[in-house]
Amino acid sequence: MKTSKFKSLALAVMAAGSFASPAAQAADELVVYCNVQEEWCRPMVAAFEKATGIKVSMTRKSSGETYAQIKAESANPRGDIWWGGTGDPHLQAAEEGLTETYRSPKLADLQPWAVRQAEASKYRTVGIYAGALGFSFNTPELAKRKLPEPKCWADLIKPEFKGEVQVANPNSSGTSYTMLATLVQIMGEDKAFDYLKALHRNINQYTKSGAAPARAAATGESIVGITFLHDAVTNAVAGAPVKVVAPCEGTGYEIGSMSIIKGAKNLENAKKWYDWALTPEAQAIAVVAHSYQVPSNKNAQTPPQAPKLSDIKLIDYNFAKYGASAERTRLLTKWDKDVGALPK
Ligand code: PLP
Repeated sequence: MKTSKFKSLALAVMAAGSFASPAAQAADELVVYCNVQEEWCRPMVAAFEKATGIKVSMTRKSSGETYAQIKAESANPRGDIWWGGTGDPHLQAAEEGLTETYRSPKLADLQPWAVRQAEASKYRTVGIYAGALGFSFNTPELAKRKLPEPKCWADLIKPEFKGEVQVANPNSSGTSYTMLATLVQIMGEDKAFDYLKALHRNINQYTKSGAAPARAAATGESIVGITFLHDAVTNAVAGAPVKVVAPCEGTGYEIGSMSIIKGAKNLENAKKWYDWALTPEAQAIAVVAHSYQVPSNKNAQTPPQAPKLSDIKLIDYNFAKYGASAERTRLLTKWDKDVGALPK
């Protein structure tokens, strides 16, 4: 959903009923690159517009895609704020100087993991939510094929799941890059790539968006979908016949993040969004949008449906290492060559 800048400007001028100067017009605009689900992006935009009167032009893409877009546009930035999506590409953008330094006065209200994300990036990004990785499976389809319930990463490469597993492409999707980096941390790099090659035989489709495989598991289009657990919970809460699994070997997690784009044309409005998005009121919009991760503001309520991170065997995900520019680029290039290019 992208409202053209020209159109929104024209509407703003018409609504004001005046001939404002270009500078005054620009003061009422903000371009948001949103990486969560469209269902959550839209109410965020509507609430911010209502609270501030600032007109938002929003585009929804996946985390890796937005990182690539911001890099491609860096000579002439078109976006102002990058809201949501996994932390690794935000950290990579920070290291590459693609995002602005900003210390929000709201930092003091945040969970330690969200502040650590800011510190690790020298205040070029910040944590807005957290969620663990896992998978979900369609129970009637599983029963129909008389397959055992998968409980572990190891189960997903068994021959009986051939063509029955879906995950996103790690280049476009932050979710899928989190899986790649998680497996490397759990198994070591060589074994993780052996695993990913074996998994490739069972994959029916690499989607662009990270949450899409949870919807495929919900409808039975794919038996298993590898996603963040909260994306699977969204479908379970909506009544889909799925079981949500935190893998037995342990799993990684994300610190969903937010950054201001370097050279933002609407810098002051970007800061307004940044401060507002860290408030409990803005973070509560996730629940309205049926998105069930852990919010970063200490006073924001974690929805009861959110998977409890304390009940999950979480690895000590090394965000500094796997969000580093050289490492993320190297792992994705290796995945393309050793896994993505393989025939089925
Ligand atoms: N939607 C939700 C609710 C998320 O938690 C995330 C990850 O931060 C995303 C979307 C982005 O996913 P991807 O980049 O894999 O499409």
